[in-house]
Parts: sequence; structure tokens; C-alpha cells
Amino acid sequence: MAPKILVIEDEEGIIHLLNLYLKDAGYEVIVAQDGADGLALHARENPDLVILDIMLPAIDGFEVCRRVRSWSQTPILMLTARSDVDDRINGLDLGADDYLVKPFSPRELVSRVRAILRRVNNIPEETGADTTSNPASGANSALSFPGLLIDLLARRVEVNGTEVALTPTEFDLLALLAQSPDRVFTREMLMNQVWGYDYLGDGHTIDVHISALRKKIEEGPEQRYIKTVWRVGYRFEVRARSAAS
Ligand code: CA
Repeated sequence: MAPKILVIEDEEGIIHLLNLYLKDAGYEVIVAQDGADGLALHARENPDLVILDIMLPAIDGFEVCRRVRSWSQTPILMLTARSDVDDRINGLDLGADDYLVKPFSPRELVSRVRAILRRVNNIPEETGADTTSNPASGANSALSFPGLLIDLLARRVEVNGTEVALTPTEFDLLALLAQSPDRVFTREMLMNQVWGYDYLGDGHTIDVHISALRKKIEEGPEQRYIKTVWRVGYRFEVRARSAAS
């Protein structure tokens, strides 16, 4: 079945363009022209991905993003007419997975949609190897640390035994860092590996996602799994239990 993309956008020209390119790339496209309609369609149609404009009538894109995130982890790609960094950070802060600044190239948009869906669905980049039917590949499917469990196949995370809901991007960042404890990742490495292409965004993007991730999995600065490596990037540190055993 073709993945279903919900486009929430009020500009006819852009709707037309997105319809054309996304359908041509094999996606099913449904369109809402304002935020309220977009939320209703999201609830009814359960799309695989949402393309969300920020400037919308009725309910703006930020608010739509906030509400969608309150009950769903559907990947969200935001469209912003402004090149204002604050706008982008605000969107990512609310749980969007990626953004594009208008005017964008439709091809670029399709490649980002593909990249997001690929990582959400755990599809390897380009190998023909069939990993899904290999039971041995399940051996390393979960990473277990004191107080933290990361199930790579089910894309589930538990903190102290309680499941926490991470956005697709937050999950991918955590999984990447935690699979190589103590290895230092630069922001550029994280962006390229998580997004799956040469990402043109700035380092703020990573910082915003890391900060959101920390709020969900860490109890405070003294209880960090993800350490900031000053001027370089981040690394995952296996946290020792506070009570020595
Ligand atoms: Ca608009």
C-alpha cells in the first residue's frame, strides 16, 4: 500500500506542486487547507507523514504540530516561508522532524519525505540485503542500560521501566548515540547519519532535538546519558548507578 501523506497547506500553487511530485513518487496524498481541517484529517486518516505549513488560517502550523504531538508520533516535515531561525527552532522544539524553507525544490522535498519514511520504517539505506527475515538480526535489537531500555526494532524506549514517547528524530538520535557509547559524534555527523543525506541545516537543529530528547529521558543535568562535548558535539555515556553495587 502506498504511504499516505497529509499535506496541510493553504497556498494553491504549492498544493498543486506537492500533489504532482508526491503522487509521481508513488505516495497517496490527502490535503487540508487549514489547521483545523488538518487536525481532523490527521485523526481520521492516520497518515504516514505530515507536511505542515506554518502560516495557516484558523490554527497555525505550530499549534497543529503541538496538538498532533500530544497524541501521535507521526513524522512531521514543516514548511516555513520565513528563513527566521527562531521559527525553525520553534517547530523542531514542538516535535517536528525536519523543515524546509520556501521556496523549496519539489525534488528536495520528495527526497526528504523518502528519507524520513525510510528511517521511521527501519528500511536500510540502499543494501539489497533482506534483514527482516533473518532471526539472527534480532540479537542486537535491544540496548539495555541502567534505567534505560532502547528497543531498536520496535522503536520503543523505556526509562526506569516506563515507556516514553519519542519523535522519530529523537529516537534515531538516541539509537545512534547509544549504539556507540563514548564515541564522540559531531553535529554534522549526527545530521548526516540521522537524516540520511547531506543536511544543509545548522547545528541548532541537532541541539534542539537533543534538548527535547534529554527532557524525556533524563532526570537532570547530573543524570545525563547524553554528554555535550564542548564545541564538538555529543556522546552517549553509560550512566553508573548512583548506589554502588
Ligand atoms: Ca501558508
